[in-house]
Amino acid sequence: MALIVQKYGGTSVGSIDRIRNVAQRIKAERDVGNQVVAVISAMGGVTDKLITLAKEISPDPTERELDVLLSSGEQQSIALLSMALNEIGVTALSATGRQAGITTSGSHTRGRIEQINSNYLTSCLADDQTIVVAGFQGITSEGLIQTLGRGGSDLSAIAVASSINADVCQILTDVDGVYTADPRVVPKARKLPEISYDELLELASVGTKVMQSRSVEFAKKYGVKFEVRSSLNNNPGTIVTEEHEAMEAVVIRGVSIERSQARVTITGIPDTPGMSGRILGALAEAEINIDMIVSNIAADDCARHSFTMNTNDLGRAQVALKPVLSELSCDAAIETEAGIAKLSCVGIGMRSHSGVAAKMFEALGEAGINIGMISTSEIKISVTVEEDQIEEAARVVHTAFGLDDE
Ligand code: ADP
Ligand code: ASP
Ligand code: MG
Repeated sequence: MALIVQKYGGTSVGSIDRIRNVAQRIKAERDVGNQVVAVISAMGGVTDKLITLAKEISPDPTERELDVLLSSGEQQSIALLSMALNEIGVTALSATGRQAGITTSGSHTRGRIEQINSNYLTSCLADDQTIVVAGFQGITSEGLIQTLGRGGSDLSAIAVASSINADVCQILTDVDGVYTADPRVVPKARKLPEISYDELLELASVGTKVMQSRSVEFAKKYGVKFEVRSSLNNNPGTIVTEEHEAMEAVVIRGVSIERSQARVTITGIPDTPGMSGRILGALAEAEINIDMIVSNIAADDCARHSFTMNTNDLGRAQVALKPVLSELSCDAAIETEAGIAKLSCVGIGMRSHSGVAAKMFEALGEAGINIGMISTSEIKISVTVEEDQIEEAARVVHTAFGLDDE
């Protein structure tokens, strides 16, 4: 008998038929003697619809109330799935984040899981119940509902698996596993049999939406091995685990794209210590994530900083930067450019192979795609390109690294 945590995403519970399909899959596990804790997302599109409703009432709703609203999507789906299970003879109990003992902290709409008091889950399991837990939500120590950021049910599932010491943790979704690139963008992408935490973490943090990046970080920290696989078939998926030596033989594990990026350039900054800290500090205070950072000295001997961020954050960034810049220098100015996208190549094999950047840049050059900013880490190279060229860029780089499924 195994204790299995299964996470089903929005598409997998996106209709009544899909919910019935999930119930049958859980029943199949129960029939062979396994215990199941299912962690469920809202039905596909529901979270987006709730956000749209909120924005109709107020362009800037309070995040406290947004959390109360958004968490209701998962509350619907856990009840429906529990009903579907009971209907086919599997006794099941739903549990909200609060009932499942998930304590969170941090900001509303992007809470962090602090701890899980698994007493309720373990007592239900001791009674041999099947439990359906609401993903994406928890409760603060003050008793407020908090959500975990978009895609946060992945994090709920990994944390629940860790807290109850599950034998298996499966992330069931609408693709067969983690591919070398988004199969919707790169039709020749291949399913990976395995991937290391670090590689998936890097991919997820630069746009690969198949797993929420914070969930992979949590899995790595607590050593939760998990599998990403399809909720619609029984094909083997992708095992996400610690790296091992054989993994380094592959130079690039995957290619990722991130759309809707904007570049912000600040010019006319005095070239003295402390300036970058002031600028980035203002953005951090406004909780704006910035990514690629390039600094240099311009012809006027002033420093020039460029960085990328999501286009949605551009307005808030300008507001946050304005007072700081006028304090720093009367010549300081901001330029912005939207309509760019980021292409990244990731692989732990990069540590032991040279010439990776050259190969990527050559492939883009041959395709007539111009590179904007560049940044690298030990296992990742990212470049910006015009957004309307990003899909072609992903395909040519995928081919250049021999990742195509022939
Ligand atoms: P869920 O609703 O199950 O959480 P998501 O929509 O969040 O599912 O994630 C699955 C989607 O991730 C797939 O439909 C796929 O288009 C996208 N995706 C992006 N990059 C990849 C990749 N490298 N491998 C697999 N899927 C990817
Ligand atoms: N329903 C939430 C979202 O759409 C959480 C999730 O699906 O993981 O982001
Ligand atoms: Mg998801």
